[in-house]
Amino acid sequence: MSEPLLKARPKIISVANQKGGVGKTTTTINLAAALVELKYRVLVIDLDPQGNASTGLGIELEDREYTTYELLLEDVDLDDVILSTDIENLMVVPATVDLSSADIELISNEKRSFLLHDALRQPHMDRFGFDYILIDCPPSLNLLTVNAMIASHSVLVPLQSEFFALEGLSQLMLTIREVRQTGNPKLRIEGVVMTMHDARNNLSQQVEQDARDNLGDLVFKTRIPRNVRVSEAPSFAMPVLTYDTASKGAIAYRDLAKELVGHGVNVGV
Ligand code: ADP
Ligand code: MG
Repeated sequence: MSEPLLKARPKIISVANQKGGVGKTTTTINLAAALVELKYRVLVIDLDPQGNASTGLGIELEDREYTTYELLLEDVDLDDVILSTDIENLMVVPATVDLSSADIELISNEKRSFLLHDALRQPHMDRFGFDYILIDCPPSLNLLTVNAMIASHSVLVPLQSEFFALEGLSQLMLTIREVRQTGNPKLRIEGVVMTMHDARNNLSQQVEQDARDNLGDLVFKTRIPRNVRVSEAPSFAMPVLTYDTASKGAIAYRDLAKELVGHGVNVGV
């Protein structure tokens, strides 16, 4: 078993929540773009067979020759799976539907939980110059998500401002605890970010209040509002920050990036 990642740079963050449609991919793409605006160099790793992060960042299907599947299961080197995007200093390791079989194929692999960790922890990692690596996790607490968490310094949890949002969080926390016990004792919770928030909606407010009561400082001050420009941006294959730079969504993701960078030593539980 390899040593867990200890170096602070690049900082590796899993964006995870086993619920689908809560804003994981949207947060990964836009937080990455916002960090790039702050002059950081960022790699997005698409760990969801749906490949939405790759598509949302403008990576055509025919350009996804090597993907996270090959990175994890075919020993293809990180150099060969990283693609550039239209945005300078924003790179992607893309995914395709091929990744959907990985979860099963990983089971028989002796290093099944450590494959992403090992792929990201190479002696020549520095030469890429990444400051942040954001991993867009699938909507499941499967071996892919465990790989992401073992490889990460922290987990960022998008929480949709709707009923049942908090349900399932205890399971996510349990997985984080298990990951700490089995291979990544230093895994932190970067924070929980309220997504698709509607300040005029009572339910949204109630869910946010519940989250803050239960999770305290773990909840980011920044909330991401429900904003149609955010949902339109992926079909133009760009982050909302470039699609509509002055939109409420873009502004919120910039605030989130600043808050994240300002965290310094991140919070634990
Ligand atoms: P996940 O990756 O967790 O499955 P997505 O990021 O794909 O979730 O978001 C689910 C859907 O909600 C997508 O159609 C996305 O465009 C939309 N969405 C996400 N965040 C917002 C937002 N702040 N405002 C409006 N729509 C959003
Ligand atoms: Mg997604």
